[in-house]
Amino acid sequence: MIKVIVNKKLCKGCELCTDACPLKIMVLGDVLNNNGYNYATQKDQDKCTGCMRCALMCPESAIEIYK
Ligand code: SF4
Ligand code: SF4
Repeated sequence: MIKVIVNKKLCKGCELCTDACPLKIMVLGDVLNNNGYNYATQKDQDKCTGCMRCALMCPESAIEIYK
């Protein structure tokens, strides 16, 4: 099972990860973090292939992927 965890405290809502995800399952959520950013989250997490493109793209190193 693949698990993608976004550290919402680090996320700045830049959308680089959402653009990088080939399946478009990484999205910005509706909720703001403490810094006032909509932080990234996954929809349809079971479809994630663990390709790591989102994590490699994140300038804040806010995404961790466990396989
Ligand atoms: S690991 Fe790949 S498929 Fe999964 S959310 Fe990140 S970019 Fe998308
Ligand atoms: S690339 Fe990183 S900082 Fe930018 S929206 Fe995604 S998780 Fe947040």
